[in-house]
Amino acid sequence: MSTHTHHQGLIARYKDRLPVSDTTRIISLNEGNTPLIELQNIPRLIGKDVKIYVKFEGLNPTGSFKDRGMTMAVTKAVEQGSQAIICASTGNTSASAAAYAARAGIKAFVLIPDGKIALGKLAQTLMYNATIIQINGNFDQGMELVKEVALHAPVTIVNSINPYRIDGQKTAAFEIIDDLGFAPDYHCLPVGNAGNITAYWKGYKEYSTSTDTHAAIVTKRPIMCGYQAAGAAPFVAGHPIDNPETIATAIRIGNPQSWDFAWAAQKESGGWFDKFTDEQILAAQKMLSKHEGIFCEPASAASLAGLLHDLSTGKIPEGSSIVCTLTGNGIKDPDVAIMQCADAKPVTIDASLDAVKRAILDSL
Ligand SMILES: *Cc1c(COP(=O)(O)O)cnc(C)c1O
Repeated sequence: MSTHTHHQGLIARYKDRLPVSDTTRIISLNEGNTPLIELQNIPRLIGKDVKIYVKFEGLNPTGSFKDRGMTMAVTKAVEQGSQAIICASTGNTSASAAAYAARAGIKAFVLIPDGKIALGKLAQTLMYNATIIQINGNFDQGMELVKEVALHAPVTIVNSINPYRIDGQKTAAFEIIDDLGFAPDYHCLPVGNAGNITAYWKGYKEYSTSTDTHAAIVTKRPIMCGYQAAGAAPFVAGHPIDNPETIATAIRIGNPQSWDFAWAAQKESGGWFDKFTDEQILAAQKMLSKHEGIFCEPASAASLAGLLHDLSTGKIPEGSSIVCTLTGNGIKDPDVAIMQCADAKPVTIDASLDAVKRAILDSL
């Protein structure tokens, strides 16, 4: 590669490891290539000698990791002649599907749970001009409806049951190894429908067995830690649950579609699932913003909430290297952010130099 490589999306970058050909029309918004940021303050604050990196997927084109899967899913849908895509969504899949459909010039239909979708995600999906179908039900019910309707209408499902989604998303693991030069000891991530933990594990496994001469020889694979919200933790319960509830709406899922794949990732990697309360998740979200300048959405912070807990018990030992995936951007969910900062209301003062000076001195 030349030193002046313009990143043109993850399909272009990892073409030889994805199911595309030289004639495939690639539908891309230059997704991927997201920063892997080492935390500088939190390890010191918690008094642990660890290297924690966050993979900030909120910096993808529509603000979540869903874009990695969507570039592949929509590219293949278009290649196969599809004129329309459909998904059930807690918000981010719908925003991503809508954007890539707009880019491709095809239609997007999205089923969302009534009233349980973050404001920014709804706004995005509207702007990208998708047809939004709100149902009086939750994500799991939307997912079942999508699977049925796809049998009767000419639409391609772009939820993570679409295997191309997983292929696109596995490239996040490639990027991590390409950036670090090694695989981390632990990989922590939030788990909802469980497509992403499936994808990372696939990526790590493929990298560790790659015969690609350009790839570093990395045989190690991380231990996978999947964290759920306490009110939506079917992997901790060991069975699907009926009425998932959490403020972290992106992981408000009771019947994960990638059930068997996620268990395989856990077992093969020697990892575990655990669950954390909304309070723990929100505290981790605030901690990241306040102490590192990184604003992720609530669901994403489950990865840090879980890591902090497992470091405190020693389950993840000092000396480890850890990657946490921050799945989505905090600005998608302004309601939660404003609620989190309810006691930091702006002060209103006179528009005079004196008043501004006093306000500054008062809070130094
Ligand atoms: C989709 C999503 C998740 C959950 O990912 P799954 O692949 O469904 O497990 C977590 N966080 C955010 C922000 C998401 O958009």
